Amino acid sequence: MHAASMPERHGFGYALTPVKLPPMDDLCERYTHITTRIANAARESGRPAGAVRLVAVSKTHTAQAVAQLAACGQRHFGESRVQEGVPKIAAMQDTALEWHFLGPVQRNKARLIAAHFHWLHSLESLDAAKTLSRHAAAAGTRLRALIEINVTCDPRKHGLAPAALPAFLEAYCAQSWPGLALCGLMTIAAHGGPETAVRQTFAQLRELAADSRRAFGLTDFDELSMGMSDDYHWAIAEGATIVRIGRALFGARAR
Ligand SMILES: *Cc1c(COP(=O)(O)O)cnc(C)c1O
Repeated sequence: MHAASMPERHGFGYALTPVKLPPMDDLCERYTHITTRIANAARESGRPAGAVRLVAVSKTHTAQAVAQLAACGQRHFGESRVQEGVPKIAAMQDTALEWHFLGPVQRNKARLIAAHFHWLHSLESLDAAKTLSRHAAAAGTRLRALIEINVTCDPRKHGLAPAALPAFLEAYCAQSWPGLALCGLMTIAAHGGPETAVRQTFAQLRELAADSRRAFGLTDFDELSMGMSDDYHWAIAEGATIVRIGRALFGARAR
């Protein structure tokens, strides 16, 4: 199939309608605005202000933009393409940043992902888990992995259907993974969906994680990566521990 005719990952392209930015043109001010909003939403959900981690999604933006935001105090950055992310990570080498890989794992890129990224939000096959674990172990690291769940079973999206998660975990728990630390679930809600539907997606992810912990006796399986520029406040209200924000921080993407 020709690349251009392939369904977009997650059912949306890079050219989403720009979100309304707060009336400030400075990146650090925007950053402060968002981190304050995150802290407030965490408190409103009965958790400490620091309970929710912000991943700044820097895809399509330059290493310079990453450096600028890092100078404002941001530490976690997310990328969804290996060929774009790795050079950026290399350019930032001497800082204490943590990098999150959000895109599909191609077999031939697994070594690069394991070598350069600290977190993976898009685990959806045992095959990928094996390759990543082997490469991470060989590199002397452990990749923190979250399983991507396609909560609404949207055919345009990546991720395991909720019904497929128990079998995945059963097979996963029967083996040892020297290069992986399985730490939770990730999902993407319908873009621009109504609040009730979007919140229901997030609530379902939270319940799936709780069910999985109980059924498989999982420990350290507490991360819920959910919420993006348009819906992160709802995700936090539903228990997100990680929000992934691109446009609301860096502005609209060129592609
Ligand atoms: C691009 C992307 C984001 C950030 O989306 P925004 O709408 O720019 O906040 C978050 N998660 C994933 C998986 C992405 O691909």
